[in-house]
Amino acid sequence: MKNFEEMGFTPGILKAISALGFEQPMPVQENVIPLMLGDECDIIALAQTGTGKTAAFGLPLVQATDTDTNETQALILCPTRELCMQITSDLADYSRFTGKLKILAVYGGASIDNQISALRKGVHIIVATPGRLIDLIGRRAAKLSSVTTVILDEADEMLNMGFLDSINEILEEVPAGRRTLLFSATMSNEIAAIARKYMTDPVEITIGTKNATAENVTHQYYLVHSKDKYKALKRLADSEPNIYGIIFCRTRRETQEVASMLIEDGYNADALHGDLSQAQRDTVMQKFRVRNLQLLVATDVAARGLDVDDLTHVINYSLPDDLEIYTHRSGRTGRAGKKGISVTLITPRERSIIRQLEKKVKKSFKSLPIPTGSEICSRQLLHWVKKLETVVTEHQEIEKFLPEIEEKLFQLDREELLKRVISLQFDRFLDDYRHGDDIYSPEGGREESWEKGKRGPKGSPDAKYKRLFINLGKTDGFYPEQLIELVNKNTKGRKVPIGQIDLMKTFSFFEVEEQYSDEVIVALNNAKFNDRRVAVEIAQERPEKDELGNRSEKRKAKWSDRRPDRKSDRKKIDYQGKRSGGFKKDKKAHKKNKW
Ligand code: AMP
Repeated sequence: MKNFEEMGFTPGILKAISALGFEQPMPVQENVIPLMLGDECDIIALAQTGTGKTAAFGLPLVQATDTDTNETQALILCPTRELCMQITSDLADYSRFTGKLKILAVYGGASIDNQISALRKGVHIIVATPGRLIDLIGRRAAKLSSVTTVILDEADEMLNMGFLDSINEILEEVPAGRRTLLFSATMSNEIAAIARKYMTDPVEITIGTKNATAENVTHQYYLVHSKDKYKALKRLADSEPNIYGIIFCRTRRETQEVASMLIEDGYNADALHGDLSQAQRDTVMQKFRVRNLQLLVATDVAARGLDVDDLTHVINYSLPDDLEIYTHRSGRTGRAGKKGISVTLITPRERSIIRQLEKKVKKSFKSLPIPTGSEICSRQLLHWVKKLETVVTEHQEIEKFLPEIEEKLFQLDREELLKRVISLQFDRFLDDYRHGDDIYSPEGGREESWEKGKRGPKGSPDAKYKRLFINLGKTDGFYPEQLIELVNKNTKGRKVPIGQIDLMKTFSFFEVEEQYSDEVIVALNNAKFNDRRVAVEIAQERPEKDELGNRSEKRKAKWSDRRPDRKSDRKKIDYQGKRSGGFKKDKKAHKKNKW
């Protein structure tokens, strides 16, 4: 393997490489740089972002550019404004010690007049998004007649974004004798067609496996009812205290909804989608880049310009229509030699898609149980303990407060002190998960509850369940443990399998295996809970869901009204208001038995 010194770079470029801290060429650079510095051949490089491809084409390009003329010699086309700026900034770094190189980024959403005047003064390299460049060609500001090198970066993304016609139009403007390089994460038929039309005997280089996501990515999925997706997402985030990831949604609306819920629930999250202004998107992306945000909820299109190397997780809250996009999503983690995890929340209806994805990325997907409340609390506690062990107490000022603090807390022994500190630190988790609703696996059994040994018996995977309504809810101190105990106590010796449980404030829904439903209804209607008469009946139908679990628009408003356990809804409606007292008031609750 050649190192940078042996590749034939000038001292100025070598100095820039060393200033950037690059020690050894990355595989894409090992392959592309010698071809760029040597032959005049066209090149197709199949490489993900994060593999070092910008330097692979950028370093030789900077070296080859003649700064003694004012002509535009190279054109780099890329899909987004952010990538455009990133490439421009990288090229500026590479040319730091070679001087005088004029590079211009042209993209939509910025003043076209400034771009026109910069172009008129003459630039050596144009880095452009296709739409804006067409505009500038139309205004005769961008002149491509002297261009000798064209680089299509993230060509597959450009095609996904509908830039095919623009690319065709632009390439018609560039002299035929040029050299063309095409970088793409995947090789689709459309990419092959462009290569056939605009490239001459291209050398094809594949970094890693063709059409496969990065080697360092582990693919996992949680099988979850669509109504539990958000809860599962929270569990996932809670069980990974150091998570730094992108949560992908399908629509702008879903993106905003998930982000708003996360923000409201106290997570360090924000949304990135096309309904935001460019300035808002820039702010969110910058916050995420510098890790002021832990979780970014984004649409595929909006996240395209975001180049972050050290994501721990990519979370597919919803799968994209085009499974090819999964490859792009998961390829955003496991970069620059780091390990990454791509997690997908899969509903029972989508289960077959896992096989298709496995084929696509040529890796197997691991099905994981949704973390239980106790697992999450223990992980959070251990994480905190580790931080406590390693924290450096460098502020001298702390010392001066110690005597007063010690005096105030002298009556607390070590254990009591620890308990209180932990309680302050972990109230949210302990509260959420001690009595939090468990999430039920669509496989028929329910996930482990907080207290081991108190779970309901598992039904057979094929068993049919009946959904029942009960007039008890969280404000009655009624949680899964209590429900299971109530059912077990009143159906002695029967071991009734319990399925999904949905706890509301003053009423709940739960599933029991169909063959036991009548028996459970009769038994519980004769039972009491904390001196209160229990009322159970068959739950009314839920609204239909579409393929991906989204409720039809018409019914959506109704549906959210029926989820008073969601904090955002709590603010809007509080129809439970005061806690209902006796059975008389529970008739009201019966009216709520409508899904
Ligand atoms: P790219 O695929 O061009 O987005 O590059 C991904 C990351 O790898 C960027 O942060 C580059 O600065 C970094 N990088 C590129 N080449 C090297 C190299 N030879 N050694 C170390 N880091 C590199």
